[in-house]
Amino acid sequence: MGSKTPCVEEENGMFINGEWRQGHQSFPVLNPANGEIIGNVADATPDDVLAAIDAASSAFPAWSATTAYQRSACLHRAHQLMLEQKSELAELMSREQGKPLKASLGEVQYGADYLLWYAEEVKRVYGETIPSARPDQRFLVKHHAVGVVAAVTPWNYPISMITRKVAPAVAAGCTIVLKPAEATPLCAIAMFKIFEQAGFPAGVVNLVTAEDPKPVGDIFCTDPRVAKLTFTGSTAVGRQLATLAAPSFKRVSMELGGHAPAIVFKDADPVHAAKGLSLVKFLNTGQACISPNRIFVHQDIIEPFVEEFARRIDRLKVGSGLEQGIAIGPLVNQAAIDKVASQVEDAVAKGATLIRGGKQLSIETLEKGCFYAPTLLTGVTPEMKIYREETFGPVAPVIPFSTEQEVLEMAHDTHYGLAAYLYTESLSRAMRVTDKLQFGLIGVNDINPTSAAAPFGGMKSSGLGREGAHEGILEYLETKLVGFSIDDSE
Ligand code: ADP
Repeated sequence: MGSKTPCVEEENGMFINGEWRQGHQSFPVLNPANGEIIGNVADATPDDVLAAIDAASSAFPAWSATTAYQRSACLHRAHQLMLEQKSELAELMSREQGKPLKASLGEVQYGADYLLWYAEEVKRVYGETIPSARPDQRFLVKHHAVGVVAAVTPWNYPISMITRKVAPAVAAGCTIVLKPAEATPLCAIAMFKIFEQAGFPAGVVNLVTAEDPKPVGDIFCTDPRVAKLTFTGSTAVGRQLATLAAPSFKRVSMELGGHAPAIVFKDADPVHAAKGLSLVKFLNTGQACISPNRIFVHQDIIEPFVEEFARRIDRLKVGSGLEQGIAIGPLVNQAAIDKVASQVEDAVAKGATLIRGGKQLSIETLEKGCFYAPTLLTGVTPEMKIYREETFGPVAPVIPFSTEQEVLEMAHDTHYGLAAYLYTESLSRAMRVTDKLQFGLIGVNDINPTSAAAPFGGMKSSGLGREGAHEGILEYLETKLVGFSIDDSE
């Protein structure tokens, strides 16, 4: 890495009130491709977390009183710095999280897009005037920052999930304390160095890293000074946090798990659909909440679909994300491999056919890496674990169907409601089906229905609230109604 390397020093990690702090203790960060320690970061104590909330709380009155244009300028600077450090950030991400360099570069760009989007959107937080039934009354609706935000982010998208929360929060005038996932604190440190350089005043953005997330989460959810909790992660943890935050009526945004159905209708081109769905399935080695987890293919076109999907798997190279030409990086840890392996074993034991993959891979020079072969299963049925449990790995389960009604019922046979995909050449069918699908994001012949400009979020057990787009900033704003009684006699 060159001179612009986002500098990651030993035992760094906490950025509180505009200063970097070392912890009393630290914890190691591993490269999932080879098991090597690539850094040691501070392990925050409850006192550190309270200090970060103190800082955010003290900084709030002044920050929320700045103009939208001042906040926008900080976000623009952070955006520019991210673009200048794009390749260094991507390299760090591939080393810490494992995804191929090309995918890391894509994520850094996607993350930077949120900074730019909210640098602009902050100028459009308009209020309203509302007609009153009384001639001597005027109504005015204003928006105000909710206050101190506590944020918890995941390891699978270790940079974009930070900007997706920090950008709208600080744009709205909130101050924030963020805890990144324990597997990827180095990306978070690099991002907070960028926020520091961008000139956010002390206490506006604060970072605490910790090996055990629970004590931090407990404080985030119960400290009365925290007005809003924003979380991206599993449904189980999201439920715990939302429950803990409920007695103090904190605002919550929850981006949780998914079990995306992908439906390939009879009128679709099965080869084109296999190309698209194999790309999105193996994106980030299947470690994405919008990954297609149940691929429903019309029984008449299942053969060419499976053939093409398998052909594409044969071309995928597995290895370290830092090496040229790698399409599939490591899974985050051995526990992730074990979960995927148990889902595949269970499916095969219950009658699924293993077309490709189905095993952990040992790669020369990367013996300690957590690699699992890209896997294709056919004949998957509702009795199998993989049909219901979120699959955070490179496994594509294919399920045949015959009618539109039948496949809609199968698609909804889940408590999740995040993403869904469909392939069809019929406009009427696309309209009909998207009207009925209870999912927050739907791709029609499209495998990437995401953008900083578009609302992202789920229904049912996939969460609450939306990130990105105009909706994203509303999550950090309170609505205030002011009624004026005026003298209308003159
Ligand atoms: P995953 O299974 O994808 O790792 P998690 O929900 O466990 O998802 O993790 C997502 C984020 O939630 C991470 O930052 C993790 O540290 C954090 N987390 C996990 N458990 C808790 C908890 N009890 N309190 C607060 N944060 C938590």
